[in-house]
Amino acid sequence: MNQKSSVHCRICDTPIEAFMSFGRMPIANGFLTAEEVSEEYFFELAPAFCGNCGMFQLIEQPQPDKMFHGHYAFYSSTSRFMQLHFENFANSVMKDVLAGRADPFVVELGSNDGIMLRHFNDRGIRHLGIEPSVNVADVARRHGIHTISSFFSPALAEDIVAEHGKADAILAANVMCHIADLRGIAAGVQRLLKPDGVLIFEDPYLGDMIAKTSYDQIYDEHVFIFSASSVKRAFDPYDLELADVMPQITHGGSMRYLLAPKGSRPASPRVHAQLEKERSQGLQEAETYLRFRQNCEASRARLMQTLEELRAQDKRVVGYGATSKSTTVTNYCGVTPAHVEFISDTTPIKQGKLSPGAHIPVRPYIEFTRQYPDYALLFAWNHAAEIRDKEKAFVAAGGKWIVYVPEVKVFS
Ligand SMILES: [Zn+2]
Repeated sequence: MNQKSSVHCRICDTPIEAFMSFGRMPIANGFLTAEEVSEEYFFELAPAFCGNCGMFQLIEQPQPDKMFHGHYAFYSSTSRFMQLHFENFANSVMKDVLAGRADPFVVELGSNDGIMLRHFNDRGIRHLGIEPSVNVADVARRHGIHTISSFFSPALAEDIVAEHGKADAILAANVMCHIADLRGIAAGVQRLLKPDGVLIFEDPYLGDMIAKTSYDQIYDEHVFIFSASSVKRAFDPYDLELADVMPQITHGGSMRYLLAPKGSRPASPRVHAQLEKERSQGLQEAETYLRFRQNCEASRARLMQTLEELRAQDKRVVGYGATSKSTTVTNYCGVTPAHVEFISDTTPIKQGKLSPGAHIPVRPYIEFTRQYPDYALLFAWNHAAEIRDKEKAFVAAGGKWIVYVPEVKVFS
């Protein structure tokens, strides 16, 4: 599967080729022990843009069992910010879609630990979560959220219809962009949705990534980075049309898409406006991606120049947040433990391990506060506002931040 020799668009089968390569890349969330280093898995991280359907995608994606291995555990509910985000998401679905419907049924793809479905459960709304990670699904079930541990497919959609009936709303957050077989998902959605049902999903947004040169959105799990125009075209063969778009600030810039069976609801004027905006941003043109590549190269050169200068001055630099995104940055740029002493992270499962590929030690957050470094490299840049607010004492002690999105900058 996904051999380099058969490089065709995952949506429309047009031959495609990579416009750049980020080089040999490990699994973004593959934090590992020193003993595991010799067996570390690498693949080539290279994105392509399909000139026919406009889909931004990875040429090669590792097998799912390499990415979601046994100790993979990302529990959505560990972030207060994300809890609030999903509460708002759930409330908007109840108000804008479900209100007035008799006994509605909601399905969420990739429902994680139930961070969103719990709000439907609390109101007694019929719901079903589909979560392939067994350990994560178990957490949801313990909280009383109906969850099945499976991958969504047209066959599973048929089973759900047989048991529960068709869905009023199918939801997904940061899930669709992970699934290489998006066409299978779309076919399943088509079967599961009521004639007046809606599919609502959100994912990191291509327009933001291009505008901010936030190339760290590109890693193994994100096989697609969507735009309104690519989503519109990808779902069209399944009789689903784009009826609304709602920009989100999550993950450094995301977009929420609402799709519905063709002709079932009028499209919001926001759809037309977003498509126009994407046209003027050049998201349909190959040159935009060559410019993006140049911007990535310039960002890499500037970051490494900064880190090399600090190293020459014997300054202590510590990474802040062992994010999946940071794996692309450290490996593409060539950041090593000689530049970054360790990465501070609050996730216990990552502590004591090494960062994928670059092998920078990950240490508990307390090590950051115990003896503040001279500089902190902010890998969790999408939470910059919250973090700067939390770390006032670091800056008061003379510490400085290094960021690289939208440009490499040092500030206090
Ligand atoms: Zn295509």
